[in-house]
Amino acid sequence: MAQGLRLVLFGPPGAGKGTQAQLLRDRLKITHISSGDLFRHHLGQGTPLGLRAKEYMNKGELVPDEITIDIILDKVMSVADGDGFILDGFPRNPHQAEALEKALAGKSWILNKVVHIEVSEPELLRRLGGRYVCRGCQSPHSIGEGEDAATKKCDQCGGELYQRDDDGPEAVKKRIQVYNDETMPVLGFYRKRGVLADISGDNTVDEVNKQVMAALGA
Ligand code: AMP
Repeated sequence: MAQGLRLVLFGPPGAGKGTQAQLLRDRLKITHISSGDLFRHHLGQGTPLGLRAKEYMNKGELVPDEITIDIILDKVMSVADGDGFILDGFPRNPHQAEALEKALAGKSWILNKVVHIEVSEPELLRRLGGRYVCRGCQSPHSIGEGEDAATKKCDQCGGELYQRDDDGPEAVKKRIQVYNDETMPVLGFYRKRGVLADISGDNTVDEVNKQVMAALGA
């Protein structure tokens, strides 16, 4: 059933999009395309793109569309016809959503579902404060109060865990504001197209995953 399933995972920073995208990728065997991971990969490699993106990422702002749209759509367009994809972190404003729609139409592809994971702001702040990411495979991990991240390793690949620069309190505040101001309007765009499913992300990873699968009819 995953054949050709084309999805967007939508939600604020800290909603669990990355975690759910990884679960879906493993379960449905479809390509996971994360704009944030792609930028962090470039940043880690010190490429010109990574260095440009860093200026915006560290402040919690969106990387400009003229950089973002081409590199993400390039990845999307490279997915084979019969395969599916999960977009995580893109589109993040109406202009990106329109560019995606145009690119998909060029291949006679449509988005099957946009899954909107809603989480309350206090919960987002709590999660982002304890979020650590693997340097190797980018898997997100939650470190509780009193736990020492330095003694923990990635449970997927054994890599080192680190806290993202943009998970600091100032950048987090800005990212939530950017989400509310620039990204939320995309919901109206997809609601009108009848592809939006709203689910509550205030739950455990497994519970949210059940709801996501149900939204996909799986
Ligand atoms: P994320 O890992 O999705 O939280 O993304 C981290 C940062 O990468 C964001 O705060 C933005 O600076 C940048 N970024 C990721 N996706 C996009 C996008 N679709 N448009 C613009 N900037 C993005």
